[in-house]
Amino acid sequence: MKKNFVIAIDGPAGAGKSSVARLVAKKLGFLYVDTGAMYRALAWKAYSKKIDLNDLKKLIPMALKTQINLKADDAAKLQVFVDQKNVSKNIRTETISQWAKAIAQIPQIRKILVDHQRKLGKNQRVVMEGRDIGTVVFPKAKFKFYLDAAPEERAKRRFKELKLKGEQVSLSSLSQALKQRDQSDSLRRASPLKIAKGAIVLDSTSLGLEEVVQKILDRIGSKDL
Ligand code: C5P
Repeated sequence: MKKNFVIAIDGPAGAGKSSVARLVAKKLGFLYVDTGAMYRALAWKAYSKKIDLNDLKKLIPMALKTQINLKADDAAKLQVFVDQKNVSKNIRTETISQWAKAIAQIPQIRKILVDHQRKLGKNQRVVMEGRDIGTVVFPKAKFKFYLDAAPEERAKRRFKELKLKGEQVSLSSLSQALKQRDQSDSLRRASPLKIAKGAIVLDSTSLGLEEVVQKILDRIGSKDL
């Protein structure tokens, strides 16, 4: 059994990366790493400590001394801890999505989190999802996938998710916010979202979760594992 095996899944918000990556990891018995949760974790800490994102003199030391831990609970759901505090719910609001988008543009912040992500993936069998996994974090990943879906479909999925959590948002404002986040993630200078060299592109617009997962598992096969 190979110890070092990275499956990278990148793509825009709402394409289904988290659900897909979690299920692929579960089926293969790999570790699941949600890198978006790490950007959200730092964004949440800065937000709750009222640190201005332009104030790098405060922001970078804060990021360096923050402990972020990702753990799966008994139901295989991801629990996110910042300095031992469970922030899993706090980081999933639309406000924190916006803060995460902004903090993710800062190269020094990216470096801190990329180092952490590389350590997590070293000598491990992981499914890691985000925006820059196949392009920057693990450009030599064994398998790279780019998961996409039509913008309207992605907005609807996000809307459903937030509604279920009781957040008051309208579909039109969410569509607008998602569009801006896509633009910012794709056009930023530091590690923009793009299709990695050698990545397999999957469109999940009209596919269910299990169908996408099966497509990924079919590509991976079993002989390489
Ligand atoms: O995936 P999720 O929507 O939780 O990510 C939140 C934000 O974190 C993204 O909009 C993006 O700006 C940033 N991010 C990133 N690189 C990653 C993962 C997330 O820039 N690898």
